[in-house]
Amino acid sequence: MTVDQGTGQRLRGRVAIVTGAGNGIGAAFAGALAAEGAAVAVADIDGDAAQGVASTIQERGGRSLAVQVDVTDRGSVRAMVSTVLAGFGDVDVLFNNAGVLLKEPYLSTTEQQWHKVMEVNGLGVLLCTQEVARHFITKGRGKVVNTCSTSSRSPSAHFAAYAASKASVLSLTHSSARALAPYGITVNGIGPGIIQTNLWSEMHRDESGSVVGDDPTVALDDYTSSILLRRVGTPGDVAPTAVFLASDDSDYITGQLIMVDGGIVLQ
Ligand code: ADP
Repeated sequence: MTVDQGTGQRLRGRVAIVTGAGNGIGAAFAGALAAEGAAVAVADIDGDAAQGVASTIQERGGRSLAVQVDVTDRGSVRAMVSTVLAGFGDVDVLFNNAGVLLKEPYLSTTEQQWHKVMEVNGLGVLLCTQEVARHFITKGRGKVVNTCSTSSRSPSAHFAAYAASKASVLSLTHSSARALAPYGITVNGIGPGIIQTNLWSEMHRDESGSVVGDDPTVALDDYTSSILLRRVGTPGDVAPTAVFLASDDSDYITGQLIMVDGGIVLQ
């Protein structure tokens, strides 16, 4: 987990829920938000992973609690919101970051694969936003940040269903920005490019399941040529934008997608 040391001030007094925070980018978001003073609910279907990240935040002096949640189950999402309200008394920011990856050639993508990836990546965003928005509406304020992807705008043939699911996240970012603006709620997207995380490693496994070349730099060399800034990103590259979108500094921004991808979508 990458934890930005931060100033400890920008999110003081704020409460954030980060789904999919047990690993990778979500864990980096949770750490960075906590380092800026937010109380962070580390929510994940993997309860042990969530607990591990929450404990690390606490060891570093931050406020956090772990919540086991399945974002595709409305009852589970409602229980998550209740747990956070009971623990922290409020929610100010929701990060819809939980996701699953699917790498499958276009022609062999099955109905089951399609439904799974759309359910977690698409429906999960809708359910979490709806249930947290009910609380935001009671106080006339709130922020939602959705983890999109370069795949939202630039789908590749081996990630057809995944890219469609991430395009649905971008569409939901726009529709929910419209739907929730009257209640003082902003909704924005953050678009990580190629970021070295568990999910990224999954993308680079060969047929036998090994990470390509077993030497990440082999895969990195292949990919850096498609990135304007000539390097893959780290979770720490993405986290500051998450802090910005959670902070008052972004109050007049809604319905936007900020790509943090080293310029890959321009290639
Ligand atoms: P990335 O590399 O994009 O950060 P990860 O695979 O590391 O991706 O993280 C995605 C997170 O989403 C994982 O911690 C995973 O357990 C979580 N997740 C997957 N499905 C669900 C779900 N249905 N509900 C909640 N969390 C989920």
